Amino acid sequence: MKIIDDLSRCVGCALCSSVCPQKCIEMEKKEIGFLYPKINKDLCIGCGKCKNACPLNKTNIINQTDSCYALLDKDEFSRVKSASGGASNVFANHILKNDGVFCGCRLNEELEAIHDIADVSDDLEQYRDSKYVQSNMTHTWEKIDKVLNENKTLLFTGTPCQAAAVRSKYGTRDDLYICDFICSGVPDPAIFKLYLAKIGKNEGKKINKFYFRDKSCGWKKSAIRIVFDDGTEKKIPRKDSMYYSLFGNNLFFRQSCYKCEFKQFKTHSDLTIGDWWGIEKFRADIDDDKGCSLVIINTPKGAELLEHVKDDVVLVDTPIEFAIQTHPKIMKSINSNPYRTLFYKMFNGDIDSLNKAYERCIGDSITDKIKRKLYLYFNIKK
Ligand SMILES: Cc1cc2nc3c(=O)[nH]c(=O)nc-3n(C[C@H](O)[C@H](O)[C@H](O)COP(=O)(O)OP(=O)(O)OC[C@H]3O[C@@H](n4cnc5c(N)ncnc54)[C@H](O)[C@@H]3O)c2cc1C
Repeated sequence: MKIIDDLSRCVGCALCSSVCPQKCIEMEKKEIGFLYPKINKDLCIGCGKCKNACPLNKTNIINQTDSCYALLDKDEFSRVKSASGGASNVFANHILKNDGVFCGCRLNEELEAIHDIADVSDDLEQYRDSKYVQSNMTHTWEKIDKVLNENKTLLFTGTPCQAAAVRSKYGTRDDLYICDFICSGVPDPAIFKLYLAKIGKNEGKKINKFYFRDKSCGWKKSAIRIVFDDGTEKKIPRKDSMYYSLFGNNLFFRQSCYKCEFKQFKTHSDLTIGDWWGIEKFRADIDDDKGCSLVIINTPKGAELLEHVKDDVVLVDTPIEFAIQTHPKIMKSINSNPYRTLFYKMFNGDIDSLNKAYERCIGDSITDKIKRKLYLYFNIKK
């Protein structure tokens, strides 16, 4: 039994594992922290439910993308805590106020990114801010099942591939809203974990909270903010962070992200949100450097959700063509880095090998640069 023809297309949503009636699919770590399904062949009865559920095997896109907006949450406190204009939180708040439930990504006590459920407004705090690491949905499916079985309205927010998985399982229904975001790709959870360990070791403290995009120096200069268990804090500008350097060099994304199958509006969501980088070129008057969200409406249900929140936000109609120009990732996957294979060959899961792989693949020293040239010559040009 094969779930998909080529496992490098697998997005790691864990839907196959959740629908298996034999419970014979386990999500196991590969390369090094990404989850992939492993079928226990002795238990598999070949029913094909996993294959039918897999979002990569679904082509029935329902989207009719037609409008695009800039959005700013009028609640500035909330906007400043969000990654961009606070769109996600505004939608989630509306759902919760109407006795619905929100499903999104938070960092758990071990600072691992997981998809979980929030049903009171106070819980939303931990869902704000983008977590630039793949979130784990292994234990999320049964929670979503429960919410929908109780006839509650659910808003799901996640990557385009996670959104496609949710649509694949539950289809189109009145009590379900699906929101995805413009996505560069999802980084390796094992590397995020090691990055945290490295900072903790250097500082000699335990990390309590981690924020990927603190806006205290402005949205455009947002930085990493870390809160330690003794209450002290550290800020790391993105340009000085090893993690963002790996991110910017496209080195540690999931394999499927380099050939994302949900680009060019092949989205299964009702609406798509993103960072409205470049809004100042279109409407300088709404750019206060506290964050601006881009919202693309994909279905009438998405338009309905936006209509519900319109009194809570500043909303500006913007041309979709301009969004496409300023956000190449709407149309195209990230480029693969020619040293990614080398990086994963050198990196074996510990801090030492991470440092060495980082230097070899991105480092500035003459030796590393020469070694990279030789690597390209012998491995790519041949
Ligand atoms: C891995 C990743 C890559 C991204 N790449 C781009 C990009 O290239 N261009 C762009 O314009 N925008 C990108 N975004 C989206 C952007 O960072 C903001 O999330 C978006 O602008 C919405 O901002 P906000 O202020 O509305 O909400 P935020 O406060 O950012 O809320 C984020 C929402 O996304 C969910 N979320 C957070 N982290 C994850 C995760 N790891 N997996 C799944 N769901 C998550 C949360 O549950 C929350 O609902 C990316 C986000 C992530 C997580």
